[in-house]
Amino acid sequence: MLLLDSTWDEPHIPDDHLDLYLLKHTLTKSERTRIEEHFLSCQHCVSRLEEFQEFIDLLRAAARVKRPNSLRVFKTPLSA
Ligand SMILES: [Zn+2]
Repeated sequence: MLLLDSTWDEPHIPDDHLDLYLLKHTLTKSERTRIEEHFLSCQHCVSRLEEFQEFIDLLRAAARVKRPNSLRVFKTPLSA
């Protein structure tokens, strides 16, 4: 699931951590700090971050275009 601990064993930032870093939630402060420190010393992960950012921008643009109607289901009043 998305609740991640502040540890990872890989030499580079895992994809899911990059994802969460960009989405700015469910990462702990120490996790974010660790990621940002890694960016300072690793151009490889900076490039990956930029690719992720572009991908997320595309997803958000797509989400704006097609609005899911399913959200309306939850707005149905329970009482008349
Ligand atoms: Zn790296």
